[in-house]
Amino acid sequence: MTDRDPVGFLGREVAELVAADLDWKLRVLGGPSTPRCTVDGRPVLMFCSNNYLGLSNHPRLKEAAIAAVRSHGVGSGSVRPIAGTMDLHMELERRLARFKGAPASLVYQTGFAANAGLLPQLVGEGDLVVSDELNHGSIIDGVRLSRAERAVYRHADPADLARALATAEEHAPAFRRILVVTDGVFSMDGDIAPLDRIAAVAHDHGAMVYVDDAHGEGVLGDGGRGIVSHYHLTHDRVHVEMGTFSKAFGVVGGHVSGSPELVQFAYNKSRTWLLSGSHPPAVVAACIAAVDVLEQEPQHVARLWALTRRFKQAMVGLGFDTGASATPITPVIVGESATAKRMSERLLELGVFALPIVFPMVAKGKARIRTIMNAALTDDDVGAAIAAFETAGRELGLI
Ligand code: PMP
Repeated sequence: MTDRDPVGFLGREVAELVAADLDWKLRVLGGPSTPRCTVDGRPVLMFCSNNYLGLSNHPRLKEAAIAAVRSHGVGSGSVRPIAGTMDLHMELERRLARFKGAPASLVYQTGFAANAGLLPQLVGEGDLVVSDELNHGSIIDGVRLSRAERAVYRHADPADLARALATAEEHAPAFRRILVVTDGVFSMDGDIAPLDRIAAVAHDHGAMVYVDDAHGEGVLGDGGRGIVSHYHLTHDRVHVEMGTFSKAFGVVGGHVSGSPELVQFAYNKSRTWLLSGSHPPAVVAACIAAVDVLEQEPQHVARLWALTRRFKQAMVGLGFDTGASATPITPVIVGESATAKRMSERLLELGVFALPIVFPMVAKGKARIRTIMNAALTDDDVGAAIAAFETAGRELGLI
């Protein structure tokens, strides 16, 4: 017999997080994710959801989901390769490829599943993967699952990417394959990767290029087609365009777009795709409707940018530091973690829901309120939010 407590660490580790104020205190929405919503019973303006275009409560998406439940039931019954591919899944992939201007697309259960399932298949032992230092955690996990050599380049810095590639190749000139991977829009800072220059450097080294455009879709490019469209690139230069339906598309689900060979390779090899159940019909139908809305209602993307410009100008005008943001993600950088937390609490009291992002998610001294604009906010809503930031900022001595 041992007196070891097999699960004692659970409570101990949570207590440590609570003591360090690093635990997640869940905020509960009492209804749909709309710009004016209820959080913990309090009416607020939503300034931190990824529902950029307001599609998660769009009538066309809701109707499509309800109709699919009636026609196809609530579950797909299987994983995609066995009996879980319905006509709806195939239609979504055709529609997405057309929207992206790509030869082919493949839908995963989530964006995380796409990165964690595909990256370790694209590179393995004897290969090299070179990654931006601020890439998303799902990329980091996908890379960790591979047995490839890893190198990191300075954030959004093509010259440092070239250096990292040259250094790695000097040490091991015989890499079988090389993969360069970057976020398209960086979720903590809202800056845009210089994908055109990254792709050019990669091309010089015969490397594959993989972009995670989770925060660029519905935002950048022609009609919100994403970062590949934004830079007028093609899928023979950016070989894997990965994204998610969980943000601007307003639903849930990951996807990759590229060549037909990429898609066939991805679904034959990604363990997350092969071994985990496929989307229920309602989700797939809502995603198809989201693509329809993006194609047919361009006003949402235009509105998102109009509000983004107004909010950014106001924040800078008030004297806040918004970093390198060039997208509807606008960080309001306040410095210390405790200040960011106080600011977020005060904003909530003033009716604005925007969460603090603190170390270790961002560097020490760079704590921030991360705001995300929403096309469905009214002009008055944005005016009220700006006033709340001004009040909280002055009270905390930030401006
Ligand atoms: N990549 C990035 C850059 C993201 O921000 C996210 C979501 N936080 C993901 C991937 C994962 O996407 P999903 O929510 O579809 O799993």
